[in-house]
Amino acid sequence: WSPAEFEKHGAEVLAAIREHFEQIRQVPVSRPYDTRVLLEEFEGPMPDDGEEFTTILAETREKVVPNLVQWNHPSFFGYFPTCASFPGVLAETVTAALNVNTMLWKTSPAGSAVETVVLRWLADLAGYHTDADGLLLGGASLATLFALGAARDAALGPEVREHGLGSAGRLRVYASDQAHSSVEKSVIALGFGARNLVRVPSDAHYRMRPDELDAALRRDLAAGAKPVAVVATVGTTSTGAADDLAALARVTERHGVWLHVDAAYGGFYRACPSLRDRVEDVRVGDSLVVNPQKTLLVPLDSTALFCRREGALAQSFRLVPDYLTSERPAAFDYMDLSPQLGRGFRALKAWWVLRTFGRNGLTAHLERSVEMADALRESAAAHEDWTVVGTTPYPLVCLRYTPKRDGEPLPRHARDQLNAAIAGAVNESGRAFVSHSVLRDGYVIRVAVGNARTTPADVRALWRLLTTTAEAQYADQRF
Ligand code: PLP
Repeated sequence: WSPAEFEKHGAEVLAAIREHFEQIRQVPVSRPYDTRVLLEEFEGPMPDDGEEFTTILAETREKVVPNLVQWNHPSFFGYFPTCASFPGVLAETVTAALNVNTMLWKTSPAGSAVETVVLRWLADLAGYHTDADGLLLGGASLATLFALGAARDAALGPEVREHGLGSAGRLRVYASDQAHSSVEKSVIALGFGARNLVRVPSDAHYRMRPDELDAALRRDLAAGAKPVAVVATVGTTSTGAADDLAALARVTERHGVWLHVDAAYGGFYRACPSLRDRVEDVRVGDSLVVNPQKTLLVPLDSTALFCRREGALAQSFRLVPDYLTSERPAAFDYMDLSPQLGRGFRALKAWWVLRTFGRNGLTAHLERSVEMADALRESAAAHEDWTVVGTTPYPLVCLRYTPKRDGEPLPRHARDQLNAAIAGAVNESGRAFVSHSVLRDGYVIRVAVGNARTTPADVRALWRLLTTTAEAQYADQRF
């Protein structure tokens, strides 16, 4: 393509994106699919000769886009939202166009400078230490893996770099029974063994019990095990519960153990004046992960890992071969802070989004989401056949349809099946998308509000859809 052809096709793509967003309310949030049929749709050899871009774009619009789940849809309420704002979408294009590698200051000076500033802004929004070490990564799971790697090395000392874990003894990580699966994956990947993830019981509100953590640490220390880290969660995946960080920090400080805070979901709500007193203060964490991709309108992927133990990330991950030295060495290069070498200019989209909306625009968005979720929670709580499960300050509502039969509640198995059928039917309708979790007392339907295009009317429409679907499913007499 010549630059002129690029501009022509670029205009076609922008027009298609504009139409996509103009029509997004009218399209199904998701469609039923069959993996085999879908694969057949795309199967075929790679073309020998290049194809016309107009054909490629047309097929993308006809075959790809309709067969995706529309995460940008105002009625997408599944998992945790990831909402792409327009400046974020455009920044992705510029990032690809520049295609710089931000591994060293030398390889992309302003790339490292913008990343440094974005990280400071994000730390400030999260209420964390703005002078903490940090970097942008491709997901909270990786952030937790690297934080636990740094915690391991801090616990064992520099010898572990030379000699590995051979004589390290039993290394243990502690997290509540509600912690995200990325914690267990990290423990496995780091070679501690899944059995050495201690699942600390949570309380009735699904928050880690500090007394149980303390008891587990005491038991393990007495038995000669080596505690590496405690992972606390601010906004659990299942119910949005937030662990009591101050109480947990008192325990970790007492035993000299690293506290990693997984605030992938809940990390930015403290920036909202109306929520400040209801959400946890993350400053006590030795390391912290937050996900702008979840709540700050930055398109996937955008995660920030911070560590206030100065130099700890570099202690674990800095390794400079001859071919990567710089004539004018900087205090650090971003390649020093994780195992990743080549890395894109991920900071640009966050920089554009944070500047476009500003602190006030973003906190207003977060507060709006909370208000809409609170309204749904109230509707469900006021309905005799629905139960709200869990306690959270965040815009995540866990619901369960709990009708009575002959004055008696349904047995758990039937109730779980009924609620799974309701969630399935809502998603199949294409009118909204919800997800689910399974808690100690059974299946719940999860509704996460957070899309910038979602309005109170969308949330009311979801509530109507949930109630009518629930009644129709129950009337089916299968449960
Ligand atoms: N931590 C929590 C609490 C999460 O809910 C999730 C995902 O939803 C993760 C970590 C993993 O995030 P990622 O998908 O960015 O790896």
